[in-house]
Amino acid sequence: DVRVRFCPSPTGLPHVGLVRTALFNWAYARHNGGKLVFRIEDTDAARDSEESYAQLLDALRWLKIDWDEGVEVGGPHAPYRQSLRHDIYREVLDKLISAGVVYESYSNAAEIDARNEANGRAKQLGYDNYDRELTDEQKTAFRAEGREPAWRLRVPDHDITYVDLVRGEVTFPAGSFPDFVIVRAGGVPLYTFVNPVDDAVMGITHVLRGEDLMPSTARQLALYDALIEAGVTDFVPRFGHLPLVLGDGNKKLSKRDPRADLFLQRDKGFIHEGLLNYLALLGWSIGPDRDIFSLAELIAAFDVENVNPNPARFDQKKAESINGDHIRMLRPVVFVERIMPYLLSAGIVSDPPTAEQMQMIVASAPLVQERVQLLGDVPGLLGFLFTEEVVYEEAALATLPDNAGEVLVAGVGALELIPETEFTTTVIQDALASALVEGLGLKPRIAYGPLRVAVSGRRVSPPLFESMELLGKAETIARLGALVS
Ligand code: GLU
Repeated sequence: DVRVRFCPSPTGLPHVGLVRTALFNWAYARHNGGKLVFRIEDTDAARDSEESYAQLLDALRWLKIDWDEGVEVGGPHAPYRQSLRHDIYREVLDKLISAGVVYESYSNAAEIDARNEANGRAKQLGYDNYDRELTDEQKTAFRAEGREPAWRLRVPDHDITYVDLVRGEVTFPAGSFPDFVIVRAGGVPLYTFVNPVDDAVMGITHVLRGEDLMPSTARQLALYDALIEAGVTDFVPRFGHLPLVLGDGNKKLSKRDPRADLFLQRDKGFIHEGLLNYLALLGWSIGPDRDIFSLAELIAAFDVENVNPNPARFDQKKAESINGDHIRMLRPVVFVERIMPYLLSAGIVSDPPTAEQMQMIVASAPLVQERVQLLGDVPGLLGFLFTEEVVYEEAALATLPDNAGEVLVAGVGALELIPETEFTTTVIQDALASALVEGLGLKPRIAYGPLRVAVSGRRVSPPLFESMELLGKAETIARLGALVS
């Protein structure tokens, strides 16, 4: 059975690269009827924060990426925070010690440098595996000096090869790295140790993670062999390294780039369906010439073996356009629910909205659902429906033609003739077309531009005649009149 994991360190704000990793693991688990484990790698007390942990939960919940085991939900391998698992790491270390695959190491950095210098060995090569051969007498002497040992893994002296699920066969030549520390003097276990140990004891079958972590894979594979020898596990998981996400130029998208900020994207008005669809395209595709798919379609089609190893570029425009397509797909009631927080925080309706405002929201929502790419654009587009006082954009006033007054007066005249009960979109449209376009011989752009500015204050607005219907006859006429004077 497939068991995958998402195991962020709780440092900083959740960024889109991290979420893409969570998404691919989730899609892989769901596609295969497997389990997603959500583990928190909080082994760096200086950088980890509870705030960041809460943000990770918020991010996954907003995106509706659910997990089967892990923090908050529990499971057979609890606890799922590494800071609470020290007993487990101690136990595993004891098994590795008994199996003879790790050894005590007393060398400090200065001693290693001095030996390398004396032996004509390059300093960058680092540790020289010296402590492998310490005798019992030497160890006793070190301890007598009050020194505490670190524990190092005995690294095999052959090439390490594995088949990456995304990249195919990868070989790390023998001697690429020396015996490395897994537990520091004083007992602090390191990332290179606790990450694979947790994967092993949690029965993780597939490790899907960012390409930036690939250099640690060789060490982890060496450690896996040791874990098997010590009886901690009996298999090595498959590894798949997901492509880098690029920003501008050929540089990795920086965590500080606003595009990378998940919550900023949410505030702008991404819906989770749209953002997940776009993130899935960062390294994967559902088929040629096809960009838009539902989460159900993603799950049905996703396979990590189809992930493209080449770097993927984060294209904000494309992301927003895909988001717009997903906004179009929402059921109208759902769209209303999704825009509500934006309307409230923009302050264009009261909190909670009055019955009258609610009616207007429901009636006007379809006009913008058709055209926005981001929910954050909705308050600006609908605001004029909820105010007595139209605010005219500078840019909108600048578009008014010289004969705007004449056009507005003619518009008022045409609308006056419509009976109150028949003040509907098609009747309004016919009346204005015959008065302005046919009657005055104006081009539609010249005829309707001033009316749009009068009604909405904006150059870009929801459809004009529908907006007039929503405002009603009296209010519409009053607004046209107000711009004349
Ligand atoms: N805690 C590690 C990180 O956030 C996870 C590494 C992994 O996925 O193996 O970089």
